[in-house]
Formats: sequence, structure tokens, C-alpha cells
Amino acid sequence: MIETEALVVGSGFGGAVAALRLGEAGVQTVVLERGRRWPVTDAHDTFATYGAPDGRAAWLSPVTVAPAQEGLPIDVYAGVLERVKGNGVDVLTGVGVGGGSLVYNTVLYQPRRDLFARAFPAWLDYDELDDVWWPKVREAVGVAEMPADVLAHEHYRGQRVLLEEAGAAGIPARLFELGLDWDVIRAELAGTIPPSLIAGEIWYGSNSGAKRSLDRTYLARAEATGHVEVLPLHVVTDVRENGTGYVVAFNEIDDNGRVLARREFHTRHLFLAAGSVGTSKLLVRARETGALPKLAESVGTRWGANGDLVIIRSGLPPTGPSEGGPAGAVLEDLDNPVAPIAMAAMPVPQAGMPEGFMGLIGMGLGPPKGTFGYDGRTDSVSLTWPSGDPEVTVIADGARSTFERLGTGKVEAIDPGTTGHPCGGVPLGMATDEYGRVNGYPGLYVVDGALVPGGSAACTNPALTIGALAERAMASIVPDIVEG
Ligand SMILES: Cc1cc2nc3c(=O)[nH]c(=O)nc-3n(C[C@H](O)[C@H](O)[C@H](O)COP(=O)(O)OP(=O)(O)OC[C@H]3O[C@@H](n4cnc5c(N)ncnc54)[C@H](O)[C@@H]3O)c2cc1C
Repeated sequence: MIETEALVVGSGFGGAVAALRLGEAGVQTVVLERGRRWPVTDAHDTFATYGAPDGRAAWLSPVTVAPAQEGLPIDVYAGVLERVKGNGVDVLTGVGVGGGSLVYNTVLYQPRRDLFARAFPAWLDYDELDDVWWPKVREAVGVAEMPADVLAHEHYRGQRVLLEEAGAAGIPARLFELGLDWDVIRAELAGTIPPSLIAGEIWYGSNSGAKRSLDRTYLARAEATGHVEVLPLHVVTDVRENGTGYVVAFNEIDDNGRVLARREFHTRHLFLAAGSVGTSKLLVRARETGALPKLAESVGTRWGANGDLVIIRSGLPPTGPSEGGPAGAVLEDLDNPVAPIAMAAMPVPQAGMPEGFMGLIGMGLGPPKGTFGYDGRTDSVSLTWPSGDPEVTVIADGARSTFERLGTGKVEAIDPGTTGHPCGGVPLGMATDEYGRVNGYPGLYVVDGALVPGGSAACTNPALTIGALAERAMASIVPDIVEG
């Protein structure tokens, strides 16, 4: 068994924040990440493209899994995007050093105060997040709104259409902050480097390097402390207590998923950051198999799909539906009389959508009604989501209300069945204390999207808030570790 002072499972928003703050405090830390590293190089060919997808496009899958490009045969490889099929919902997650930040649309979006109060517990102080933790994440990643010269470019017709139609209907819409290097986008627009984000190449990773993904921000700084070692292609399979701390079993795999070795780490300080679904599954299985029997009943509950909707509209002025990534504009119908909703225009690359179509992602409020259940016969954990629950269906009704008031175009589809924004499963303040210390297990912490307790990030994309909750947790937990 290998010993380490602290161990972090997963390297997305929660794991990257944990790694940096442990490393800065001089705590010897290992990060186990199941996916690969994805270094962006001058060759601009790190990631798969929609034009010619290959194994890099999906996590150990014989077919592609991305929306608008599902089911194409590819080689089985440790690619960047996973589709977890639940009962009633599919969840998309990013895989690799940097987690969801490799595949994300780079939106770092702060919830509005009144909606935050509906989605999060009253003891979680909005002012504290606003003053300290949201800014800390924004600063560490580096954010900015889409500059005027970029928005004015031919590639961004869709973003302008959204802003204009919302303005005409009197519905608030604005630019929001993205974790991007806009000079790289300008180089793509000028043609001095190959088009990537501007051609909507986002969900398989972006070859231009415009994304300020976590491997290039938080994790690079963590490794630079000299106290943090990130081990890619290490898949954690089991977690158990052994009286002196925690034993974490893992498979070391090759790029095609073949198991090369099976080994164990021992640590006194275990940080779970395998994402909402990954962390929830590890803990539910540990409780049900008796490895961590004192875990609360609330572990595996209060999961939510972030109120997400995938929407396709048609009949609009020219939108350039396959270009203009990432989404720079958001329509905020947060005082919608049916249900509050925010919507961002999403380019859908290579989808063959005609001019005047627009892909959108909608985000509403909760509810936290998803659960994870263990099946002893298959030794597996699955997610169940009540897709027909009125608190779920009302979100799409809210979107329809927005479109009626917009009065433009036609709604081709509203799909609530897929989310890239999983929230919850190990609810903050219920399964853990108010910071992420797991009840009943000193030295065991959850620091990722599993903590989000109300089913959504309150009509926003959740990464900024997940990072902020992790920052807040680490500021409380790290002194305990350092002071022994
Ligand atoms: C296509 C797409 C676009 C998105 N766009 C946005 C956006 O623009 N803005 C936004 O706010 N959010 C966006 N999201 C969501 C965002 O990516 C997540 O909210 C965020 O990354 C969650 O952070 P996390 O730390 O909870 O988990 P993740 O970032 O998912 O990280 C979990 C990590 O743990 C690893 N892991 C899982 N299981 C194991 C295991 N057993 N052993 C070892 N490692 C493991 C995973 O490989 C992964 O790297 C998007 C998501 C997708 C899929």
C-alpha cells in the first residue's frame, strides 16, 4: 500500500481547487484522475473534431456520445466525454486532467441572489460567496465577457440574434463571463490558426487552446508547488476505512482502458472530487457494501439535473447555427411567470442545421429529486430521475412561456432528458457538515458538484459555484490538516 498525506480523487473543479490549496499549504498530495492529460500544442490536433471524430471523443466507448453526434463508431479509447445513462436522464461529463473544464463551454456564471436563496440553504451566505469565493475562482481561471469586436464578427450572428430578439421583447439579456483567452479567439477569427471554438468545437475539447481549462490554471499552479502529484489514467474503484484513515483502490489503465496494475493508496485525508455522479456512486456503493457503513442515508439523494433543457428553434434570421462558439450571451427570463429560466445560444457543430436554426441550453431551478440506488446482483449503482414530475416538467413550460413572449421563430424541440450539469448526491449540510466534511468519517471530505444540495445552481451553469464551494471548504479544512 502506498502512503500519501492527502489524496484527491478527480481533477475537475472540486479536485483542482483542493489540489491547489493543499499544495500551497505544503501538504503532500496525490491526485488520482481516471482520464488522460490533454496538452494543447502548436499542432492544433490534441482533441477529436466533429468533422472526423475518433476514440478521443468518448470515454472508453465504441460509439460517439455527444449531443448531435451520437452513435458513430469509434475506437475504444480514454477520450474526454462520457455519457452516463440513468433512468430518466442521461448525464454528460468531462474526463481527463481538468475534468469538465476540458469539454465545457467556459461559462462561469454567478446566480442571482433571490434565485440562489431558492436553490441553496439559508445558512449559506450569498454575501460571503459574492465577496470572497466566486471572485476567487474567477481570478484563478481568468474570465472576461465577449469583447465587442468578437461579438460583431460574422461568426457570432447567433449570439447577436439572441440579444436582439430578447431586447425587442423586453426580456433581459446580456453577455456573461467566460474563462477564455480572447486573443486566441481573435487569432482563430483572423485565420492565423485553424478554427476551433469559432467553429463550435467545444465539447470534445478545443484545439486552439483558447479555453483556460483547469490543467492550465489551478492544476498547473498546484503541481508547481512541488507538493502535488497528478496521476492520470488511474481509476478509483473502491474506498474503505481501515482504522487509521482510508484505503483507496485503483486500476492503472492504458489509453485503451486495459488494466495494467491494481494497487492501493492509504491516506488520512481523502478528498472525493469525482464529480456529482462519480462521487455519489463511490459513496453509495461504499455504504451498501459495508466499506463505509456509517454514511448518512442522505448520501445518494438530492440529485438534480440543474433544470437543464436542450432546445432547438427555427425560423429565425440568419444565425450561423454551427458556428460562433462558445455561448457569449445569455437571455435571463428570471422573472418568468411560469418558471425562471436562463438560456444561452449554443452552436451545434456539424449538425447540419439550416440557417435560421438555433441550439440553446436552458437552465432552471431544481428539483433535487434524483436518487442513486445500489444493485447487489450487479454490484453497481444507478441514477434514477423522475422526468415526469411536475416540478421537472414546469421548467419546459417556463421555456415555452419565454418563447411565446419572444414571439419569434418556432420551437422544434425541448429536451429535458440530457444534462451536462449534474448537481448533488452528497448534499452539503446533510450528508456532510456545512463545508463538506463527511458526517461520521473524520478525514473524509467531498468537494465537488455532489455537494450542491438543491438540484441546481439556481438558473446558472454550475462550475463557478462548484469551484466557489470547494474554495470555501478548503479554507476551512486545510488549517485542520496543517495544525494536525
Ligand atoms: C459538454 C459540457 C459543457 C459544459 N459547459 C459548462 C459551462 O460552460 N459552464 C459551467 O459552469 N459548467 C459547464 N459544464 C459542467 C461542468 O463541467 C461541471 O459542472 C463541472 O466540471 C463539475 O465539476 P466537478 O469537480 O464536480 O466534477 P468534474 O469536473 O466532472 O470532475 C470530475 C473528475 O473526476 C474524474 N473521475 C470520475 N470518477 C473517477 C474515478 N473513479 N477515479 C478517478 N477519477 C475519476 C473524472 O474523470 C473528472 O475528471 C459542462 C459540462 C459538459 C459535459
